[in-house]
Amino acid sequence: MIIVMKEGAPKEQIEHIIDRIKELGYTPHPIYGEQRTVVGAIGDERGKFRLESLASAPGVEVVMPILKPYKLVGMELKTEPTVIKIGKHSVGSKEFMLIAGPCSVESREQLISTAKAVKKAGAQYLRGGAFKPRTSPYSFQGLEEDGLKILKEASEITGLKIVTEVITPTDVLLVSKYADVLQVGARNMANFALLKDLGKINKPVMLKRGMAATIKDLLMAAEYIASEGNSDIILCERGIRTFESATRNTLDLSAVPLIKKLCHLPVIVDPSHATGARDLVAPMSKAAVACGADGLMIEVHPNPEKAFSDGAQSLLPDQFMELTKELKKYLVLEGREL
Ligand code: PEP
Ligand code: MN
Repeated sequence: MIIVMKEGAPKEQIEHIIDRIKELGYTPHPIYGEQRTVVGAIGDERGKFRLESLASAPGVEVVMPILKPYKLVGMELKTEPTVIKIGKHSVGSKEFMLIAGPCSVESREQLISTAKAVKKAGAQYLRGGAFKPRTSPYSFQGLEEDGLKILKEASEITGLKIVTEVITPTDVLLVSKYADVLQVGARNMANFALLKDLGKINKPVMLKRGMAATIKDLLMAAEYIASEGNSDIILCERGIRTFESATRNTLDLSAVPLIKKLCHLPVIVDPSHATGARDLVAPMSKAAVACGADGLMIEVHPNPEKAFSDGAQSLLPDQFMELTKELKKYLVLEGREL
C-alpha cells in the first residue's frame, strides 16, 4: 500500500505513520519528495486491508494499493529516476556509465594492461570475472580470490571502479570486500537466495537479465534485492535466447525504453554477450545510446585469440578506443557525457 501524506505534513505525522506501519507488521519505505512524502508499506499481501485504517491518521491524504507486483522498483511509489553514487561517479544521471575489460581475470599482466587501455579510452569502470559461471564445468572457472586481488590492484593503479560477478551467496561478503559493483550474471538472475543476500549489503548490484527471462521476471528479481533493503540496483540487458542462431543471443533493445517506463532503476546494455561477435559490438553500442541506455558494458582483451573465455566477442584495446571516440558523438545527441 502507499500512504500519501498531505503537502507539508510535519515530521511528527510522518514518523507516526512509519511507526504504525511497523506495528502492523509491514516495512515502511518513506520517499521524501519536494512537494509531499509518500510512505510505501511493504509486506504480506494478505493482511494489507489493515493498512487502510491509516487513512484517518493525521496528515494522511490517501491510502492506495500498489497495483504492480514489483512494488519498490516500479514507478507507483517512486517516480524519480534512481541515481546511484559510486565514488565520484553517478549512474542513472547525465554521466554515462562505461564498463570495460576482459571476460575473465586471467593474469596480473593481462588485467592491468587492459585496465590502463580502457581507462585511457574513457571507461570509468573495469570489468573482469574472478568467479565464472560457465556453461561447461570443464571450462575455466576463474581465479577466485586471487582474481579479486588483481582487480583491486588494477583499481588502485588506474582509479577505475570494479564491477565483478558473484555466483554464490557464500561469496557475497568476500566479493563485496573488493568490488565497487557486484554483478549477478544471466545464469543467476533467478537465484533468489543470492538476490536476498545482495539485498543486505551496502554496495550497488548490477543485475543481468536471464537468457529466458521476461522483463517482468527481471523486475521481480530486482524487487527481491530491493525488498531486503538495497535499492542501488543497475539493470543490464544482455540479450535473450531466441530461435535466431546467427548471433549468440538476440539483443532486446526495446527492453531499455520499456523498463524505463516501468521502473526507476538505471538500465545498461551489454552488446558483447548479446551478440557474441566483435563486429557487432560497435553498432549495437551506438543503438544502445540512442534508445536511452544509462551505460554500456563491453568486453575488451589485449589478445582475444588467447582469451580464456569470450575471445570472439572481445574488442582489442584500439578498437575500444575507436568506439569510445565514435560514441561521444552519439552521447552528445542524447545529452549525456562520459
Ligand atoms: C559476464 O558478463 O561475464 C557474463 C558471464 O555474462 P552473462 O551473465 O550475461 O552471460
Ligand atoms: Mn564473457
